[in-house]
Amino acid sequence: MNKKSTPIFAIANQKGGVGKTTTAVNVSSYLAGRGVRTLLVDLDPQGNATSSLGVEPQGATLYDLLSGEELAKEVIHLTSQTGLDLLPASRDLAAAEVEFASLPDRDKRLEIALEPILNNYDIVIIDCPPSLGLLTINAMSSSRGLIVPIQCEYLALEGLGHLVSTIQLVKSRINPTLELFGIVMTMFDSRTRLSKQVVEEVQKHYPNKLFRTLIPRSVYLSEAPSYGQSIFEYYPSSKAALAYSSLGEEFLDRIKQVYGLAFDSKPDR
Ligand code: ADP
Ligand code: MG
Repeated sequence: MNKKSTPIFAIANQKGGVGKTTTAVNVSSYLAGRGVRTLLVDLDPQGNATSSLGVEPQGATLYDLLSGEELAKEVIHLTSQTGLDLLPASRDLAAAEVEFASLPDRDKRLEIALEPILNNYDIVIIDCPPSLGLLTINAMSSSRGLIVPIQCEYLALEGLGHLVSTIQLVKSRINPTLELFGIVMTMFDSRTRLSKQVVEEVQKHYPNKLFRTLIPRSVYLSEAPSYGQSIFEYYPSSKAALAYSSLGEEFLDRIKQVYGLAFDSKPDR
């Protein structure tokens, strides 16, 4: 893979608690286990992706990278999983929204910071904060595709219009290659009519974007992060692990279809 073709995907939705971090961590973990060299960027000052992987950053974090104090290679953390590296977040990342606001390259700082290390990875996945602020704009500016998790709950689609118009805005002003790559339905409960209705609704509005795989509501997905583990380490035979592996495969298939990119990977899961 050459530098230019390493695709970057942002997992975004300005709503909190919809499964962005859970999806970012577990899809990244699946890809790494599949032999795809993956970098996970934790762009949320809450640092949930960082702690979900059991990383307690000592020293430099993404904030230092974005502020130009550190080089990316100094900030990268290896994780317990082979093939999965992390750019960890810390609380001070919250200040970035304000501190960078008046800088001319404020929308591009992440892209600029990632550029020197892209070559080391097949895929980069960015876990966005729950807002459409400057950090998320940085993610959209550097990404090729956006993946939007939607929770199978009442009012699930509320706010989606705003997200889509933000994508259009970034596309027209900053990053012409950006597109809505896929929608993932999370916390699906097959016993409720509401879950099915929400899926049908999304299917109706975004027929080509919805991933077939539905991520079930699963207590194991909410427990795994407290052990610093992905679902594949915590409970590999669970339905939730099967769902995230199926989503990972669908994701790889779609990358192949849409971008013509395939990775030399060895299935070991
Ligand atoms: P976001 O990053 O969008 O804020 P999270 O991934 O952190 O959302 O998920 C919000 C909460 O819901 C977390 O406590 C997480 O562990 C839990 N959670 C996420 N996905 C599921 C799921 N499929 N089933 C059950 N709990 C989930
Ligand atoms: Mg999150």
